[in-house]
Amino acid sequence: MTIIVEGQKILAIEKGYSKPGSADKLIDLSKKTVMPGLIDMHLHLESETNKDQALMRFTSNEADIAFLSTLYAKKTLMAGFTTVRDLGGSGVNISLRNAIAAGIITSAKSIVTTGGHADPTNGYRKDLMGDPGPKEGVINSPEEARQAVRQRYKDGSDMIKITATGGLLSIAKDGSGPQFTNEELKAIIETAKDYGMHTAAHAHGTEGMKRAVLAGITTIEHGTLMDDEIRALMKEKGTYHVPTIFAGMFAAKQAKVMGYYHPLVVPKALAIGSQIQDTFSKSYKAGVKIAFGTDAGVYPHGENGKEFVYMLAATKNREGDCN
Ligand SMILES: [Zn+2]
Repeated sequence: MTIIVEGQKILAIEKGYSKPGSADKLIDLSKKTVMPGLIDMHLHLESETNKDQALMRFTSNEADIAFLSTLYAKKTLMAGFTTVRDLGGSGVNISLRNAIAAGIITSAKSIVTTGGHADPTNGYRKDLMGDPGPKEGVINSPEEARQAVRQRYKDGSDMIKITATGGLLSIAKDGSGPQFTNEELKAIIETAKDYGMHTAAHAHGTEGMKRAVLAGITTIEHGTLMDDEIRALMKEKGTYHVPTIFAGMFAAKQAKVMGYYHPLVVPKALAIGSQIQDTFSKSYKAGVKIAFGTDAGVYPHGENGKEFVYMLAATKNREGDCN
């Protein structure tokens, strides 16, 4: 086949090897497999899994993060992913998006509640803990929720990420309980809609996930303990599931490496990580809308494509539409 490209556009795909004109540039990929650019709906270009990740929060300057993020973006591109959604960073991801000027959709710091998954001061000593507020993404009322969304709009976010339940890799005991009231969720999602922004909810446990779906969230990230009631609600509301299977598998594997994660993280990663594949399989069979997303950064950047292996394994008893 010959693919004819002009500028940023594919003009035509012709059978066989067409002869290039004298002004054309020929790129010979006849010994390669050529695919369209892939999309990863969930990753973190500001960081990469590392046993010293907790310490690096105190030692890395924004410039350090910025230089590394360009490397991670390049690894992602070379893995075949030309469009990505960066689900929560410090704001360096917004500068990275601006520098690349295409193909990255960003959310700045996730919106959370005090002590929740992605509270930026979880696990700090008391005098460093302070009392982060809506500007840092920590809210404790519908009013603060609205303020946090508007701040993110002002900061240049394309979308809003929230942590609807506890999470695996935060230095906190609970990995799955709900973390927002219905009123707070409603305030976040309605305000985001006012600014034309999508919303993504990190969620493992059922109650927090259900509240987010009912409040009108666009995507459920991970969705580990999703049940049939939630699947039915997601189908009714058109909510997408972004399963991130490989990240769960990677975290469960790394949890067995002594000293890799904080002791509070290990039992959560072991208990929850490997369940995501089964959850995805059930969502898929139930007909829930699925979007491809991997949570890269939780595992080394550039390995995004491994998600397909887990997805295909989980769908192998159904024919056709996951090719
Ligand atoms: Zn993530």
